[in-house]
Amino acid sequence: MDLSSLASQPVTVLKGVGAALAQKLQKLDILTLQDLLFHLPSRYQDRTRIMPIGSLRPGDEGVVEGEIKVADIVMGRRRSLVCRLQDGTGTVSLRFFHFSAAQKNNLKPGTRLRCFGEIRTGASGLEIYHPEYRRVDEDVVTPVEESLTPIYPTTEGLNQGRLRALTDGALEYLKSGSLTELIPDHLRQQWQLPPLNDAISYLHRPPVDADQELLLDGYHPAQRRLAFEELLAHHLSLLKLRNRTRQQGAPLLQGSGRYTQGFLEQLPFPLTGAQQRVSAEIAADLSQPFPMLRLVQGDVGSGKTVVAALAALQAVEGGFQAAVMAPTEILAEQHFINFTAWLEPLGLKVAWLAGKLKGKKRQLQLDAIVSGEAQVVVGTHALFQDEVSFANLGLVVVDEQHRFGVHQRLALREKGRTDLRAPHQLIMTATPIPRTLTMSAYADLDCSVIDELPPGRTPVVTVVISDQRRADVVQRVRDACVQGRQVYWVCTLIEESEALQCQAAEVTAEELKEALSELRVGLVHGRMKPAEKAAIMASYKAAEIDLLVATTVIEVGVDVPNASVMIIENPERLGLAQLHQLRGRVGRGSVESFCLLMYHAPLSQQGRERLGVMRETSDGFRIAEKDLELRGPGEVLGTRQTGMMAFRVADLQRDSDLLTRVKQVASQIAADPQLTDAIIQRWLGRDEQYAVV
Ligand code: ADP
Ligand code: MG
Repeated sequence: MDLSSLASQPVTVLKGVGAALAQKLQKLDILTLQDLLFHLPSRYQDRTRIMPIGSLRPGDEGVVEGEIKVADIVMGRRRSLVCRLQDGTGTVSLRFFHFSAAQKNNLKPGTRLRCFGEIRTGASGLEIYHPEYRRVDEDVVTPVEESLTPIYPTTEGLNQGRLRALTDGALEYLKSGSLTELIPDHLRQQWQLPPLNDAISYLHRPPVDADQELLLDGYHPAQRRLAFEELLAHHLSLLKLRNRTRQQGAPLLQGSGRYTQGFLEQLPFPLTGAQQRVSAEIAADLSQPFPMLRLVQGDVGSGKTVVAALAALQAVEGGFQAAVMAPTEILAEQHFINFTAWLEPLGLKVAWLAGKLKGKKRQLQLDAIVSGEAQVVVGTHALFQDEVSFANLGLVVVDEQHRFGVHQRLALREKGRTDLRAPHQLIMTATPIPRTLTMSAYADLDCSVIDELPPGRTPVVTVVISDQRRADVVQRVRDACVQGRQVYWVCTLIEESEALQCQAAEVTAEELKEALSELRVGLVHGRMKPAEKAAIMASYKAAEIDLLVATTVIEVGVDVPNASVMIIENPERLGLAQLHQLRGRVGRGSVESFCLLMYHAPLSQQGRERLGVMRETSDGFRIAEKDLELRGPGEVLGTRQTGMMAFRVADLQRDSDLLTRVKQVASQIAADPQLTDAIIQRWLGRDEQYAVV
């Protein structure tokens, strides 16, 4: 065993660490001395100096020293012991709600105390509740702490004192042993990163003169150095995954133009420049002998479906099948309708598969898929169940992949894969992903952006309005419908359960039917049978319904150009990305469209800010950045539960400026598999979760 490597030394080498303590530490994922050293303080307290009482402000945390002038039991709402402490610059009260008789005897007037605690405004002015304190003697120098006091993330039954003692022990080992420096010297020098051992020691025991503000905000070079390594580890693990996929063969899908030509000719519009560019990028990928892994981002309405169809046709031209998967049945069905209309005239067969398709009908589709009779298959995630086999799957298109989550994306990669070959993958999302996230969470994918909308769209005018003005809103709906427009009314409800949401949508629909008796009001919600839903959507599309009341099921993909007004109830409950998606359902035709965000007062500060963003911009990328800023990466990615984005030191937002560098360094390090694994192992450790293979 290499004794100098703290990664191989269990915590039990430390004095006083037995089985019980080791078990508690294990709860914090601390097994070795290295783990312990990487268990960094979440914040610091400054006990290195004594603050003049006169300088204290509420919210301060610090050490004060003075003499007790008065000590009284006060009968307020709760009985408490209050000591007035004075130091010549001012007075502060120490308040104890729980105290023993002995304690009370010790805290007599004339006693000198040194205390630590948080300053707050209490009944008697500035107070400290339950300070840590000890008696001091005026004539004897009582030393203050020499470094900032670290506060560690912890678990039940493990106090800060204990953790400090443990890290003291580990730091002692660090003096003689070492943590392996994993970032090569020349890179460290180039990027001016401090050595690992120094950074670790510094963060556990920052010296008195440490720049506290930097430390507390996470911008200290020692922290940045670790954040850098952590981001690097995540990046490398995604690259590794990508390389593993890339090492597999993929069908060569050389386009002959046989189907794409005819398809483009029959389209009633020319492709936008952005559609052409992105299609060319995809076409180039498909003609490579390794699997494409490409993410296409395009705002709602930017015309991603056509791009997907072109990719599918190239697969068919190359003699393979293409599968197109959507996250909801409504959306899948709409794709099926589009693809059928586009591809059948070219002599191709499109199969359809969803969870609810049963019995003989299902068998017919399964047969067409396995025999290869169907060249293109459209469906929900039902496509990826075991019973579905493809004759020769060459391309998988995943639409609106955001909703599938990172792990599903990785699992999908496994489907359709044989020992020899993996299908190409095209992932499409209408929820723009902020750059910081594409550079981190999506580092395993190539990225294309459709950054242009088809011509002739008029931006949607967004109005933020209180639900106290519901009557005005209803009138506006009437006016729009009388003019021949169609309206969406989206109920986003307070209730958690889908059943209750649907019920509430039913109630709203009834109310609106009554208020707007001259209009044809329809209702669609998540608990309806797919056939029912499809029928309602079809008659809305055929303009047989004026006002469609819906739960958020309409969120993705429904295309009704004549719909020009959308009311969204309780928009403050939704994420910005989701609102943006919803709003994208209107403004698809050439008439001016409106989106009314009907909130329920009072709005929180954040709520106001978020709705303000919706009013001000229709740029999906800006909205996504704002969403990230307001809600954090976990919420935006929707993968908080996977732990994927749980960083120990790094913060995607704060450290986003490191990402470009991380990417560069990662590409240099990736050539060294051993080093790559060591870095991944240190930070992602035992559960290198996304190594699905
Ligand atoms: P997305 O999936 O990106 O939100 P869709 O593919 O549903 O968008 O396209 C939105 C609408 O724009 C559809 O009605 C589609 O037919 C139309 N469309 C797509 N590309 C163009 C284009 N180049 N010019 C005009 N209309 C287009
Ligand atoms: Mg779409």
